[in-house]
Amino acid sequence: MVPSPPNFRLDGIYTQRQDGFFMQRIKLAAGVISATQARAVADISARFGRGTIHLTSRGSMEIHWLREEALSYVKRELAKTGLTSRGACGGAVRGVTSSSHGTHGFPRLEALARQVQRHFTGNPRFERLPKKFKIGVEADISGGRHLIQDVGLVPAGEEDGSPCYDVWIAGGLGREPRPGFLLGERFPEGRIIPVIEAVIAVYAANAPPPKRLKFLAQQMGEQKLRELIEAESGFSELLPAASGFAEGLVAGGEVSQQRELPVFAGELTAGQLLRLADAADVCADGVLQVTADQNILLTVIPGADTTLLNDFSDLSPVPAPRVLRICPGRHECSMGLAETRTVAAALLEQMGEAGQQLSWALSGCPNSCTQPQLAEVGIVSSALVKGDDGERTPRFDLYRRGDTHFNTAFARALTLEQLTAMVRDIG
Ligand code: SF4
Repeated sequence: MVPSPPNFRLDGIYTQRQDGFFMQRIKLAAGVISATQARAVADISARFGRGTIHLTSRGSMEIHWLREEALSYVKRELAKTGLTSRGACGGAVRGVTSSSHGTHGFPRLEALARQVQRHFTGNPRFERLPKKFKIGVEADISGGRHLIQDVGLVPAGEEDGSPCYDVWIAGGLGREPRPGFLLGERFPEGRIIPVIEAVIAVYAANAPPPKRLKFLAQQMGEQKLRELIEAESGFSELLPAASGFAEGLVAGGEVSQQRELPVFAGELTAGQLLRLADAADVCADGVLQVTADQNILLTVIPGADTTLLNDFSDLSPVPAPRVLRICPGRHECSMGLAETRTVAAALLEQMGEAGQQLSWALSGCPNSCTQPQLAEVGIVSSALVKGDDGERTPRFDLYRRGDTHFNTAFARALTLEQLTAMVRDIG
C-alpha cells in the first residue's frame, strides 16, 4: 500500500501532482509585499524549489517544486521577513484579499485586510474549520468579487468618524457557485472582527466537512443563517477604537501613479522577482502589489525615474489581454485536468484584436480558482475523455458574461480544437 503524503495544509502546503514535491502558498494581506520580503521569496524558490513563483488570483504567492525536507527551512526563512503561510491552505481563514489596487481608498482597505488577516491567522479558534474560509475587502461592488467570499467587506461611508462597511456573506465559486447575500449594512469598523467571529462560530458549529459556508445558506436558507449569526453573543460587540497609525505598506497615490506590469499566467522566475523588488525600491517606495489578475502593480513615487519599468516585457513575452488569469492546472496542481499554460498559449495564437480587449480566465478544473465566472470569457477544463487510442484528453466549458451575477457556460465539453475555433471567432 502506498503511504499517504503528510498533511501540511494548515501551514499552507499542498502536495503537487508530481510525487514527492510540494507547493508552499504565502499569505499576503490584500496582495501587498515589501521588496525585502519579495527578495526572500525569490531566494527561497531559487534555493529550495526550481526558481519559479506563481502569483494567484487571490493575491498570494506560491512556490512549487519543494521537497519535504525543505519545508521547515522554508517556513523559518519566511518568518525571518515577517511573512506567513499559516492557514493559506486547508480548513482555515485564508489570506484576506482585495482586487481594488490602485483605487483612491486602497491604503485604508489594505490596513483593514492586514488587521483582519493578523487576527484570524494562527489562532486555533479559527483553524480546523470544515473547509476554507475566504475574506475579501473591496472598494465597491462593481467587480462582483464581494459576492464570491465567505465574508465580503465593502466600504459604506462613515459614522461618527468611523469607517463603515457593508458585509456580504456565504458566497463562493467552485463547482457549485453561489453569490453571497447582504448580512447587514454600514457596520462600523469596530464591529467587523466580532461579526466575522460570529459568522465563523456558526459555520464551524453547523457545517459538515468539507462544506463551505454557502452550503449552510443553501441548506437552511439565508434568513435562518442570519438569525443564528445575529444570536451569537459577540455579534453586536463594538471594539473600542485604539490610537495608532494605520497598518499598511501602500502609502496611496493617484491613478496616474499606478503602473501595472502584466505577468503571463502569474508565473515569475526568481530573477524576475528580484528585478521587480529592485524596481520597487527605486520608484515605488519598496512596495509591490500582487493584483487579483495575477499581475504586479507599483504605485510610483512622484518624480521617481521610471525608465527601469520599461524593461519588464519579458514578464509577458507574447501579446496577451491585460486580464488573463491562469491557474497552474495540470502542470503542477493535483486537481488539474488540462495543461493551462500550454492551452493559453495555443488560444493566444488564434486570438484576434477584439479578443485581446476582453477579460479572460482559464481554470484547469471545475474548482475555478481563477474565477472564470467573473471574466468576460471564462474557460474551465471540465473533464478528461478517453479517445479510441486510449489517450485521455481534456474537454472545456466556455463561459460568457450574461445578465446574472455569475457567467454560465454556453458551450460545454469542447475539444481543444473546438475551443480554439470559438476563441478565434470571439469578437
Ligand atoms: S482550478 Fe483546479 S487545477 Fe486550477 S489551481 Fe484550482 S484546483 Fe488546481
